[in-house]
Amino acid sequence: MDKAQETILEIDLKTLKQNFTFLKSKTTANTKFLAVVKAFAYGSDAVEIAKYLQDLDVDYFAVAYSYEGVALRDAGVTKPILVLHPQPVNFDTIIKRCLEPSMYSKRILETFIACAEKHKQTNYPVHIKFNTGLNRIGFSEHDIQTVLSCLKTTKSIKVRSLFSHLAASEDLNEREFTLNQIESFKNIAKTFNTGLGYKTFLHMCNTSGILNYPEAHFDMVRSGIGLYGFGNDAKYKKDLKPIANLKSIISQIHHLKKGDSLGYNRGYIAKQDTTTATIPIGHADGIKRQYGKGKGFITIHNQKAPILGNVCMDMIMVDVTNINCKEGDEVIIFNAHNTAEDLAETVQSISYELITAISQRIKRVFNR
Ligand SMILES: *Cc1c(COP(=O)(O)O)cnc(C)c1O
Repeated sequence: MDKAQETILEIDLKTLKQNFTFLKSKTTANTKFLAVVKAFAYGSDAVEIAKYLQDLDVDYFAVAYSYEGVALRDAGVTKPILVLHPQPVNFDTIIKRCLEPSMYSKRILETFIACAEKHKQTNYPVHIKFNTGLNRIGFSEHDIQTVLSCLKTTKSIKVRSLFSHLAASEDLNEREFTLNQIESFKNIAKTFNTGLGYKTFLHMCNTSGILNYPEAHFDMVRSGIGLYGFGNDAKYKKDLKPIANLKSIISQIHHLKKGDSLGYNRGYIAKQDTTTATIPIGHADGIKRQYGKGKGFITIHNQKAPILGNVCMDMIMVDVTNINCKEGDEVIIFNAHNTAEDLAETVQSISYELITAISQRIKRVFNR
């Protein structure tokens, strides 16, 4: 790992492989593995991550929106890609690029069937999403007969899998609710597959589901955050390691006298003589304004440097009064030891939000 000379997001592919191997080891040998690479693979780089995982034992990819799937196809990803939240405006593209849409409502199902017929498809693979308590997207149990009747009208599409999504798999206080979701999914699958008359495969678990609910792995599991190194629980800190290091450098050092102000709107007033370092990363890079005013911090030579005053678009200023450092020194925004989860917690956020927000203008560097 070279010393940073500008702000970079360094991505460690060996760590990705270790996380994958750990998650895989939690499932049985015939459980398929879907890697969730939506939102630029949680802010890292969807193309590089998917190309790397494609050569490991990954069976499926998932993205949220159609254009994310198109980007993977353009880059040469050939494994099946599930589009979790497609819109009718993209159905032509979905078919042209061999993406597999989630069918989550009658409107979506009917529109997609019409599109598949227009493109003269037979048995085009789709996945039926059932809502079992998250109340976000998906058919309800009451829709089963409607979906089955719709499917019987056409040969253009074929159901490859049924799936659902857990609402609180990381929260063991919600175990009863989660077990209810699992039961409800089992019942739906039984009725649906009986009515359908051919076999589909079932999946329900995200990362925390994989770790906490082995009884719900069914035929496939879907992991996002775990691959990127977060287990949503301190107990997995030694097994899952963050793959991304966000690093930068000290651009300039300033010496404030007691009473001097710092940054826009004089967001910080020095209570005593204070030394600050200016770092080239700001809210346009994903370090939100909430991290300012002393809440968030970065790490310089293993010491915490709080972010002072208001976060600017392209810069933050941090307190280095008690840190022996100079212009050009490397700083860590987050890495495997000073984690994105810890930084996110300073503003009551979660690892997911911080890592997916890291702007595309920051250079990605891969350690292979
Ligand atoms: C994002 C997403 C996942 C991945 O969840 P993680 O907690 O990141 O593992 C799985 N399934 C669905 C439907 C999702 O939207």
